[in-house]
Amino acid sequence: MLSRRLKALKAYKTETTQAKIKLSSNELPYELPGELRSLISQELSKAPLHRYPDPVSQELREVVGDFFGVPPDNIVLGNGSDELIYYLSIAVGEFNQGVYVPVPTFPMYEISADVLGRPKVCVQLDEKFDIDLEGSLESLNLQKAVLAYYSYPNNPTGNLFMRDRIEKLRDRGLFTVVDEAYYNYSGESFISDALTRDDTVVLRTLSKIGLAGIRVGLMIGREEVVEEINKVRLPFNITMPSQIIAKVVLTKGREFIKYSVDRVVAERERLFRELMGMEGVEVFPSRANFLLFRTPFRADEVHSGLVERGVLIRNMSYLPGLDRCLRVSVGKPQENEAFLEALHSTLRELA
Ligand SMILES: *Cc1c(COP(=O)(O)O)cnc(C)c1O
Repeated sequence: MLSRRLKALKAYKTETTQAKIKLSSNELPYELPGELRSLISQELSKAPLHRYPDPVSQELREVVGDFFGVPPDNIVLGNGSDELIYYLSIAVGEFNQGVYVPVPTFPMYEISADVLGRPKVCVQLDEKFDIDLEGSLESLNLQKAVLAYYSYPNNPTGNLFMRDRIEKLRDRGLFTVVDEAYYNYSGESFISDALTRDDTVVLRTLSKIGLAGIRVGLMIGREEVVEEINKVRLPFNITMPSQIIAKVVLTKGREFIKYSVDRVVAERERLFRELMGMEGVEVFPSRANFLLFRTPFRADEVHSGLVERGVLIRNMSYLPGLDRCLRVSVGKPQENEAFLEALHSTLRELA
């Protein structure tokens, strides 16, 4: 009775190994400060939890809109941007029409297409991890697509794709989803397109700026697009605690977020230089809060060497074109130091 579409699929597996130092999920390494936590407790203790939450998250959309500089009517909130990726895969085009994904990238784009049984056009990135425009156009001639997903910057490679390649592909009739999960670290955006065009939306999330635990993501688009996505959206998809916590943090915690993001960016540059100087390590420039690097050894061996030394990062070598690659999230200075030491000693052991 269960769908044949699902038989061949596997449930999404994330890294759950325990370790003292966790640099595997691109979270913000800093905890919310005490004053913010007290404010959250106060607000939560007053919340009418026996009632359903606001189904349209009106107040939170206003706060999020103010934080990201867009009107609330141009926003749909999701239980993480992951949920919005599903909604977009349901809402754009028909299920027999293709989804274009430049790979290697964030797996949810493909997963949502697979679950719906949609055909995929996955095209390998070029040697600079940028979009292979010619290869993509050729592939799209063979298999048409109507929806495209771009992680911008790209997870896990860390780079920003060239803007005009995304635009040229869009000119071929692709509804364009620009996933700006790492916007606060890159500063580059397609928001002005999302607010003026019917074929472009932007995704953002609170997960990479200190609130991964409450699952709040957002889609930014024209009101006509927002209206359609709202037809797909589950009515109470943002829980009352999530609405309350996000409101407190995005109003009273702005300095904390800005300060933390600045520190992570500074640490990213330091970590990059340190990895550059490490023998045998090839590290790729990043505009996000993580770094991708390659070593001469098998990635699973490097990974377990680090776990033995109490540091958890992400093995990326299973993705196409990322042989021997791993991804490390930028942590607090002491965490990055511990990672560098653990990597150094692991590589020496493997050599
Ligand atoms: C981490 C990440 C997300 C996360 O989304 P949430 O569901 O909001 O936590 C989305 N897209 C990319 C590219 C990511 O790396």
